[in-house]
Amino acid sequence: MAQSADPHVCLTCGAHVPGDRAAPEVCPTCSDERQYVGLHGQGWQRHAVLAAEHTTVVDPVEPGLYGVGVEPSIAIGQRALLVCTPEGNLLWDCVGILTDAGRDALAALGGVRTIAVSHPHFYTGVATFADAFEAEVLLHAADAAHVTHPHPRIRHWEGERQGVFGGITLVRAGGHFAGGTVAHWPEGAERRGALLSGDILQVVPDRRFVGFMYSYPNLIPLPVREVERVAAAIDDLPFDRIYGGWSDRVIATGAKDVVARSVERYRRALAGRLDGVRLPWPS
Ligand SMILES: [Zn+2]
Ligand SMILES: [Zn+2]
Repeated sequence: MAQSADPHVCLTCGAHVPGDRAAPEVCPTCSDERQYVGLHGQGWQRHAVLAAEHTTVVDPVEPGLYGVGVEPSIAIGQRALLVCTPEGNLLWDCVGILTDAGRDALAALGGVRTIAVSHPHFYTGVATFADAFEAEVLLHAADAAHVTHPHPRIRHWEGERQGVFGGITLVRAGGHFAGGTVAHWPEGAERRGALLSGDILQVVPDRRFVGFMYSYPNLIPLPVREVERVAAAIDDLPFDRIYGGWSDRVIATGAKDVVARSVERYRRALAGRLDGVRLPWPS
């Protein structure tokens, strides 16, 4: 199919907008209160210019799973994951830059059959990736208004769960965004199951908790009922590992317990019980 015109890329968040017209004055994703316009104002650059200055890196993470990132880091440093299954490969989340070498590296792993994205902060280059691999793009319908680069291959799915292939299920968890989605990969973590969470459940730096926020950069919390909704949405799924939206944000094992104690910590904090609880180290 015809390739889209070279898109404009927001330098603060990585959102793409169509390249066949002038870029908007302000990035729609950054002007939402869950993001921010950079201190020095809105910056756009053409994808082709950025692709000449960056590398799309593809690195093995565990059997059947590869991390897809951009070096040097750009925007919010998004990291995507390629889940390889006998029925085709799922690109979970997306990044803002796809170089020719990156495209070749992904093609050598079998390419991308479907792209699914946790929420609008990772929509980034889905149109570019969809063109490169003739891939379907699955985005939750509740966030359709946040798509900044429309594309005929985008399909907005509705409801609470969507099966993909290879046993993978998309789960609408909500929270950070109304259509906030996580992916359950039962083959992950040596078949103990893995959850790919973006920042719907954000793995925090100590990797012993996850966090839940409406806006991470602007530090706006969610109501407890929304956090409980996220937890309830994944409660019946078996998983032992969580891959967050950044390469160092992984809970390698015990992730079910991590979610339970993180929800409890959130409840305690919003109830005003800020009592400096310490976990033994290491847990
Ligand atoms: Zn932006
Ligand atoms: Zn986000």
